[in-house]
Amino acid sequence: MYPLSGATRVLGIIGNPVRHSLSPAIQNAAIAACELDYIYVPFVVTPEFLGAAVSGLKALGVCGFNVTIPHKTAIMCFLDQLDESATCAGAVNTVLVRDGLMTGYNTDGFGFISSLADDLNYEPGAGTIVVLGAGGAARGAVAGLCRAGAEHIVIANRSMNKAVELAEEMKARYTKTSILVSRQDQINDNHLDTASLLVNTTSIGMNGDRIGFVDLAKLPKAAKVYDMVYSPFETPLLREAVSMGIEAVNGLGMLAAQGEKALTIWTGKTPPKGLMKGVLQSICGH
Ligand code: NAP
Repeated sequence: MYPLSGATRVLGIIGNPVRHSLSPAIQNAAIAACELDYIYVPFVVTPEFLGAAVSGLKALGVCGFNVTIPHKTAIMCFLDQLDESATCAGAVNTVLVRDGLMTGYNTDGFGFISSLADDLNYEPGAGTIVVLGAGGAARGAVAGLCRAGAEHIVIANRSMNKAVELAEEMKARYTKTSILVSRQDQINDNHLDTASLLVNTTSIGMNGDRIGFVDLAKLPKAAKVYDMVYSPFETPLLREAVSMGIEAVNGLGMLAAQGEKALTIWTGKTPPKGLMKGVLQSICGH
């Protein structure tokens, strides 16, 4: 690992709160493993200082940074350009600062698709994919699924208007994917029995609560379950699915893969496969 010096380049994360972010741990571990002369630092930024913070990071020569709650959408107007990943997702979680230009990316969709392949051995294709939720994480996931070749997606969300808005936006952009919406309380009877993958992008489970409106028994035997929630490590959805013999994983692999992609965007280096996930698992005690 390089000692901190005048040549050390700075990466970071802005958000509020950032105290519990796992990104400094995974990024600094990857920086050390890749033998890069960089450091990754957390910056608490409140909404009223977002514009000043973005200008300040540029002025200070910071090479890139992650963006987390509550700035993922608000930051877009402070950037010079957006990568397609950010435009599609309508949110930015990674910023590259190069040659005086700030470019916004969204690596969540990449992280999700990559984790689906690595952790669930699932490739989007002809099977129906049921996505629960229509918030920021769902946007990245649906865009990623469409780009990866998903043919049928059903979006179910508590607020129907948000599901419709997301579906319309994605349908206009990705014409090869059929995207339907369903009322949350009708998902069991309408689409679950033909699904090959069920994805939870809602925040249900973070407080230990069950997704009460989903009956996993309706899923076909070979269907798989992806829960984007990763804290608690064993989410209620994961526990329930596994107890029924359904292959299921939490969102830790996605968190690691989006971080790997961000580091590659900033430095051109890809950390050793599994390194970030291993760090996350050890932090979570698994
Ligand atoms: P968000 O934009 O606030 O969206 C939250 C979603 O959850 C909305 O669809 C919301 O429905 C739904 N929801 C919340 N409480 C609900 C309830 N009680 N019943 C039914 N639906 C409910 O949040 P987000 O950024 O999409 O994040 C969602 C989750 O994904 C979080 O747990 C986050 O940690 C996780 N995530 C994980 C990764 C990863 O790398 N693994 C990456 C990004 C996000 P309404 O539209 O009706 O409000």
